[in-house]
Amino acid sequence: MTRQDNRSELPERKETVRRKILSLLSDRPLTARQISGLVGIPEKEVVVHLPHIQKTVGTLKGRLAVTPAECRQCGFVFRKRERPKKPGRCPICRGESISEPLFSFG
Ligand SMILES: [Zn+2]
Repeated sequence: MTRQDNRSELPERKETVRRKILSLLSDRPLTARQISGLVGIPEKEVVVHLPHIQKTVGTLKGRLAVTPAECRQCGFVFRKRERPKKPGRCPICRGESISEPLFSFG
């Protein structure tokens, strides 16, 4: 999936997708993967939209909250990770069982 899809760059479509993500997140917290399935866009694209949604909600009531990824083995929290993508491996115990960052709006 390296092919560029220019249709996804249309501003109207971006707006629609962001609004859809926002309404999903106001119902319940979701991972980027779950958003991807519900909105019908690649997870890679969800990750691109999220920082923009953060800006959009600045003018609305409520805010976008991120529960950081956490190592299931030692409990290490990936606080500094700004990117919504799930980390591959724990820097402390090298464990690969890591919970995905969870996004919520409210
Ligand atoms: Zn760990």
